[in-house]
Amino acid sequence: MRILIVEDEEKMANALCAGLQADEFSVSVAHTGEEGFFLATTETYDLIILDLMLPKRDGMEVLAALRQKNSSLPVLILTSRDTIRDRVRGLDAGADDYLVKPFAFPELLARIRALLRRGKPESGDRLRLADLEMDAAGRTVFRDGKELALTEREFDLLEYLLRQQSRVVSREMLARDVWQETARYTPLDNVIDVHIAHLRRKLDEPFKKKLLHTVRGVGFVLRQETP
Ligand code: CA
Repeated sequence: MRILIVEDEEKMANALCAGLQADEFSVSVAHTGEEGFFLATTETYDLIILDLMLPKRDGMEVLAALRQKNSSLPVLILTSRDTIRDRVRGLDAGADDYLVKPFAFPELLARIRALLRRGKPESGDRLRLADLEMDAAGRTVFRDGKELALTEREFDLLEYLLRQQSRVVSREMLARDVWQETARYTPLDNVIDVHIAHLRRKLDEPFKKKLLHTVRGVGFVLRQETP
């Protein structure tokens, strides 16, 4: 598996590089956004770790340029604690996941593995995560063999989260893709939170393992928590 690290802080880049190599990944490092974009578009990688604060071309520009080229390459962004807006923008711009600095290396590895396992977003009518099974065409969903009685909107919401499983989705993404509401002036966040709460009651409350998680300040993710 080949990973590209785009990070200007040398200490951080070296630590990531050494850690990932010890875990038998093949690693390339770029120290500027320019160089990162060049490598990402000329070489083949399985995943990019992209710092947001970079000299010349910042991480957000690199990400946007990559997505414009239709690259479906998994991108994990690194960001500092005080830039929640950036994190949300990063997800909206097509990042697959993010980590806040400082982070523990095992957490990074777990995220990388989840992204590599996931590959492309789930397509087709049969969607699955752990003991959750959905027939998107037949509009039925079962957890642990029991059918969940969802409203139309809850079903759409769960289908979207299932297709994006292991990927953090922002409220902006839900407003755009599930509610098909592009104007961000409407107070949709509350509506989304209410639907998430209803969905959680039906999806997770009766079961020991929780699948739907809130990522504070950012959004939601449907995934099995890694031990
Ligand atoms: Ca940086």
